[in-house]
Amino acid sequence: MNGTSEGQAPTAVTAPDLARAPTTERRRPGQRPDHRAAFAAAPLALGVVDGEGLLVDANDALAELLGETPDGLTGRLAADLLDLASDARTWHAYREVLRGRQAKLRCTRRLKHPDGHSLWVQVTVSPMPGGRTVLLAATDISARRELQARLRHLQMHDPVTRLPNRSLFFERLAAALESGAYDDTGTGRIGLCYLDLDGFKAVNDTLGHRVGDRLLAAVAERLTRCADEAGHGRAAAPLVARLGGDEFALLVEESTGTDQLADLADSALKALQDPFDLSGQRLAVSASIGVVERRAAGTTTTCLMQAADTTLYWAKSDGKARWTLFDPERNAHRMTRQTLSSSLRPAVDRGEFVLDYQPLVRLEDGGVRGVEALVRWQHPHFGLLTPNRFIGLAEEDGSIVQLGRWVLRTACRQARQWQLDHPERPPVFVSVNVAVRQVWDSDLVADVAEVLAETGLAPELLQLELTESAVMGSTGRPLQALQALSDMGVRIAIDDFGTGYSNLAYLSRLPVSVLKLDGSFVRGFQYDAEAGEGHINPADEVIVEALVQLAHRLGLTVTAECVETTSQAARLRRIGCDTGQGWLYSRPVAPDRISALLAAG
Ligand code: C2E
Ligand code: MG
Ligand code: MG
Repeated sequence: MNGTSEGQAPTAVTAPDLARAPTTERRRPGQRPDHRAAFAAAPLALGVVDGEGLLVDANDALAELLGETPDGLTGRLAADLLDLASDARTWHAYREVLRGRQAKLRCTRRLKHPDGHSLWVQVTVSPMPGGRTVLLAATDISARRELQARLRHLQMHDPVTRLPNRSLFFERLAAALESGAYDDTGTGRIGLCYLDLDGFKAVNDTLGHRVGDRLLAAVAERLTRCADEAGHGRAAAPLVARLGGDEFALLVEESTGTDQLADLADSALKALQDPFDLSGQRLAVSASIGVVERRAAGTTTTCLMQAADTTLYWAKSDGKARWTLFDPERNAHRMTRQTLSSSLRPAVDRGEFVLDYQPLVRLEDGGVRGVEALVRWQHPHFGLLTPNRFIGLAEEDGSIVQLGRWVLRTACRQARQWQLDHPERPPVFVSVNVAVRQVWDSDLVADVAEVLAETGLAPELLQLELTESAVMGSTGRPLQALQALSDMGVRIAIDDFGTGYSNLAYLSRLPVSVLKLDGSFVRGFQYDAEAGEGHINPADEVIVEALVQLAHRLGLTVTAECVETTSQAARLRRIGCDTGQGWLYSRPVAPDRISALLAAG
């Protein structure tokens, strides 16, 4: 076989000639002809390499793979042709095989074909009998690689928005944290905007999943554009990924500081500000963003995502449609959960809670119809705490039952007092928030009956606010409780409607009579107020109007939360909403301020 390089015909010889000619002309004594022919004609690309690493023989398939003729290959360094020297490990292993010190080498290489295209080959090098030469086999695995790449792309991207999905995001995040921590050529910092659409669920539920999906795709497009613009003039644009549902992430590798992230979050919110045109439907959405920016060293993906999650939660509870920056101090406050939790129970006995009241106003004429009781904790160390800080804890440890009884009794007593103090005007009702656990773990019906009897408040002047999640799927005991309360004459309201299941048809079958629309609906109204008259943003109006109409048809009245501007109030009135609650009318205030209000009107 070594003879192939001698006396070869010039390079112009065509492949079939080569396949045939040597078999007859260059057979060595004792060699069986079929082996030689098999080597030449084998569909697998084969070559024989001597101890110096020079190709001494190559078959047609190898020549074709490398865009050469077999002649053109002989005498050349196999390592050059197949790129075996570019990484130290392969190079070492290859030489070990050439020296007969290692049995086999297998590696994958990306090669450039002379015609310009690149290909992936799998190369195997193994000793030939006799030990002086090695056999080199190469397989073109480009198609397989491409298929793998395509599969990987599918696995790593979200079909709805075509954005990188959760898996790819976490892969990139982990890689970025690692290189940020160990590679000191960059800033060593990392930033993340964790974005969640406000009120997306309602879009899905009122307009259908197709519209919801289209909205997500349109949001993705705007975020991508925003990231591209942010990446302009920098090494790389932020990675935009869909983490699931209506959650998106913008990952900034090598971030330069919180300013950069704040700018990005700002522009993301701006990018979503204009209503979306989805085949005839104009829709507005807002988003809340949690922003985290920190050194990569010492951070893990879990740690970063937890911080982002907490911060997003802050953005939501600060009123949505905004970004919030991670604040270690605020987080430390969260650490006081333990402290808060342990002092909750005794706090009820010690009388550390107070109730503020917020008017519920008839939209038609601005008259006060009722008030919502909102609990606050005057904590001896932490000062005045809002319910978002402790209601969850109280639910977790069960102290909500005791606290809830106190709220109910105090609110009913107060409402009765107002009624007695202002006999000249129609009495105002009081609306009391009830946690899920109160329905499950206590005899709510007995508590309510007892409190009403004790305070002398008429059941019609009491409204109980439950969240959708508390009443959804109600069967058995909770449903009986709701029914008994309703039979008693107490009104049941669904709080924060639109943030949960938003299943109106289902709700109408329960003894529910009031719907409190979540503030995120009303917030969508604010932009046109900023843009000035004549600038209509009918997006949320479409949803809210549809909701109000449907609710009315199902016999429910509708209260809008978070009414902050006169234009929001005007539009809610026009849409047919019954009652409004919000800063436009009054913040939650102490009971004597309500007394003054009642005396005035
Ligand atoms: P909620 O029942 O939806 O109460 C309305 C919340 O929106 C109140 O927050 C109120 O201060 C706020 N708000 C009112 N008007 C506006 C406005 O125009 N703009 C904005 N941005 N916000 C407005 P607060 O008092 O912090 O209460 C938070 C939540 O805590 C309540 O939400 C309710 O779910 C819960 N909560 C309050 N008191 C009680 C209680 O006694 N028992 C139970 N179980 N939960 C309670
Ligand atoms: Mg409420
Ligand atoms: Mg609410």
